Amino acid sequence: MMNKPQVAIAKCQKIHDYLSVRKAVKESLDLIGGLDSLVSPGDRVLVKPNLIAPYHYTTGATTSPHVIRALCELAKEAGARKVSIAEGSGVGSKTEEVFAVTGLKEISARIGVDLINLKKTKTVYLGIPNGKVFRRLKIPEVFMEADVVVNAPVMKTHDVFPATLGLKNMKGALQEKDKKRFHKWGLAQSIVDLNKLVLPQITVLDGTIGMEGMGPTHGTPVNLGVIISSFDTVAADSVAAAVMGIDPLEIEYVKLASEQGLGCADLSRIEVVGLRIEEVKRPFKRLKLDFASYREKGIEIYEKGACSGCRNTMEAVIAYYMESKGRLGLLKGYTLIFGQNVKIPDEHEGKLVNIGLCTKKFREKGEYVPGCPPHPHDLVAFFEERSRILK
Ligand code: SF4
Repeated sequence: MMNKPQVAIAKCQKIHDYLSVRKAVKESLDLIGGLDSLVSPGDRVLVKPNLIAPYHYTTGATTSPHVIRALCELAKEAGARKVSIAEGSGVGSKTEEVFAVTGLKEISARIGVDLINLKKTKTVYLGIPNGKVFRRLKIPEVFMEADVVVNAPVMKTHDVFPATLGLKNMKGALQEKDKKRFHKWGLAQSIVDLNKLVLPQITVLDGTIGMEGMGPTHGTPVNLGVIISSFDTVAADSVAAAVMGIDPLEIEYVKLASEQGLGCADLSRIEVVGLRIEEVKRPFKRLKLDFASYREKGIEIYEKGACSGCRNTMEAVIAYYMESKGRLGLLKGYTLIFGQNVKIPDEHEGKLVNIGLCTKKFREKGEYVPGCPPHPHDLVAFFEERSRILK
C-alpha cells in the first residue's frame, strides 16, 4: 500500500516576530522530516516566494520576509552551499522594486543570499512530458541548476481561481509572454503543464498573513498565523484550501494536477501532522454574486457549466473592477454569456458579448472576449474600449 503524503500544520504565535515565525517554519518542516532530509551539504537551494507586486507582507499579498529568511537560514544550516531567492513579479510590475518594498533586498544582503530576478535571468526551452496545452516552455536555468527548490507561496483568494497556492506560485518562473499565453490557452491546465517541469521538492505555505476577498492583491489581510508544509505540493495546496474553507477539487489546477499524477488532492488520503485542519480552519471570504440580480441594473448575465475560472473572473470584474469603483455603467446594455454549456438566450435585450473560449462558437452572433478564462484586465479593457467608441 502506498504511504499517505504528509502535510504539517504549525501555528505561529507572533506573526511579525522573526524568531516566532522561524520557530513555526522549523516546526512544520521537522514534522515531515526536516529540511535536512532534503538538503545535503554543498547543495544549491532556490527559494521561490510569491512576490507578485510591490506590496508589504502585512497586506497579505506577498510572502512574509520572515518566512523567506527562515527558509534561507534553515537551508544554510542544513549545509547548502548557495541559497538564492528567485522571483519574477506579476505582469507590469518590476521585480527589483518588489524586492526593495518587501524588505528582501536588505535581508538578502544581511544574511548572504542571492536575489534572482527571473524576468532577467537566462532561460532554456524544455520539452514537457505529457504536456497537454504546452509541449515546451522557456524556463529559467536556475531551476535546472538548483538541487532543491523550496516553494513559499502565500494563502490567498484569487480573481480567477478560488485560491492561489503552491502550484500556481510556480507561474513566477515564466517569462511575461508565456504568462499571457497561459490565460489564452487554458490557465488551469497550463499551470499543471508548467509544474510537470518545475514541481518543487517542497512547498511551505505562508499562512502567517493570508488574503481574503479580492485577492491576489486587492483583498483584506487575514492574520491566520499558520505554516503548512509538505513534500507533496498538491497535498499542501489541498490542506491549505481546506483551512481556507475551500473544497480543494473546486480549484481546477489542483484537481487537474491530482488527476495527472502530480500529487494527492484527496483529503482522506493525506496524513495531516501537527495541528488538525479543524484547529486552524478559518473560512476566507470570497466573492459570491447573484448574477440574475444585475438584470434590474440593465445587465443580463447568463452562465451555465462555467468552471471557477470564468465564474471568479466575472465576479471580480463585476464586483471589484466595476461596481466598487462606480463603473458598473460600462456594462449596461450588454448581455454577457459564459460557461461550457451556455447557449444564447432566446430573448435578450442587450448587445451580446461571448466571454471565454467556450463561447467562441457564438462569436459571429456578437462580440467575443477570448481566454480560458479571460484575464480580468482584458475584460475591463474590452468594455472601456467599447465605451470610448460609443462616446
Ligand atoms: S472558457 Fe470555458 S473551459 Fe475555460 S475557464 Fe471558462 S468555462 Fe472553463
